[in-house]
Amino acid sequence: MADNKLYDILGVPRTASDQEIKKNYRKLAKEFHPDKNPNAGDKFKEISFAHEVLSDPKKRQTYDNFGLKGIQEGDDGMSGADCIFSELFGSPSFFGGLGGGFGGFSGFGGFGGGMGGRRRTQRGKDNIYPLKVTLEDMYNGNAVNLRISKNVICTGCKGIGGPENAFITCRSCAGHGFKVAYCQLGPGMTQQIQAHCTTCEGVGKVMNEKHKCTVCKGKKVTYQTKVLEVNVDKGMRDSQRILFRGESEQMPDTQPGDLVIVLQQKAHDVFDRSGDDLYLTKTIGLAEALCGINIIVKHLDGRELNITNPPGRIIEPGDVKGIVGEGMPFYKSPFEKGNLYVKFDITFPEDNFANEKVLETLASIFPPKAPVIVPRDAEEVELEEYDPNYKDTSNASRSSEAYASDDESSMHGSGVQCAHQ
Ligand SMILES: [Zn+2]
Ligand SMILES: [Zn+2]
Repeated sequence: MADNKLYDILGVPRTASDQEIKKNYRKLAKEFHPDKNPNAGDKFKEISFAHEVLSDPKKRQTYDNFGLKGIQEGDDGMSGADCIFSELFGSPSFFGGLGGGFGGFSGFGGFGGGMGGRRRTQRGKDNIYPLKVTLEDMYNGNAVNLRISKNVICTGCKGIGGPENAFITCRSCAGHGFKVAYCQLGPGMTQQIQAHCTTCEGVGKVMNEKHKCTVCKGKKVTYQTKVLEVNVDKGMRDSQRILFRGESEQMPDTQPGDLVIVLQQKAHDVFDRSGDDLYLTKTIGLAEALCGINIIVKHLDGRELNITNPPGRIIEPGDVKGIVGEGMPFYKSPFEKGNLYVKFDITFPEDNFANEKVLETLASIFPPKAPVIVPRDAEEVELEEYDPNYKDTSNASRSSEAYASDDESSMHGSGVQCAHQ
């Protein structure tokens, strides 16, 4: 049996994710804290210790492979581990009985006996899957199904490839796993080298074709597709990783690596996100910018927010205003939230939207314009539309054009001037 004590202390399965471990640790630590529960004895210390080991990927790996003894002996920087151990789990001799007992990794469940009996198993590669999720999922939390395909140990032969008696001695290397070859180095000079047998891959035995496992055709693994439920918690972010321990490819004599889900936040039509804050851009008219706004924004949880700004409180183009507590929920603390910021674009009226008389009236309600004294010999020039892509290398042509339009548009010029008076 694999050593499961630390997992049992935290009440989590061996395959628990980092999140689950942290969650249960927090819950138990609260429950058994000496301040709250003075009669719980060493329970709190045990919980803290289990968390210390299982929350550290390196220590957890050591523990998974070699149990408490591995942690005790390991050079994982567990200073004073001896005394913590004897205090919590009895004298060091307690570990004497654990020595040979952790083959099989029964805690992983469902792998069959393919990896039993090995003291040290190689660890397979981690598999990384991107998972696209909506901003709504990250705001509200959601369980998202992800279909994954991977090799699993064949249940027909338990990862051996066929029955035990299906193996025969490799003829190519006579069961040695290597072959002796002679290299001609020169006339009369040869060198003897040992070459890895490719027929049996150095094992010395090959499978009798006739007795191959019919399920996996001797490949020891089968390809399976399964649907994994990924819990996207409130406040999770783009690029955040969710770990499924031991859910990567299965191979004989190999401890499966982890399946790592990397969240990818889909672009949202309305909101942009920066950390725990949300941003939205709202286009309003000039009247709203000056005389108050009243807009409805549908939030990520479906609530309708009525955003108001009182008449007279001016909103300028590019202004950003904030609404406290309407941003994203904090990860692990979803009752706290970031802010929602609204950036305003303002649509101005079209050219000539009103006649001169109306414009005069309009001008009269704004603060008076600064008086301008036009010198007698001042040249009147007119503003043209600016085109950033327009590049004119000849200055001469531009100035002649400017002169030409100057005359034509003197009527417009006087129109502007009239507003000055
Ligand atoms: Zn098989
Ligand atoms: Zn061979």
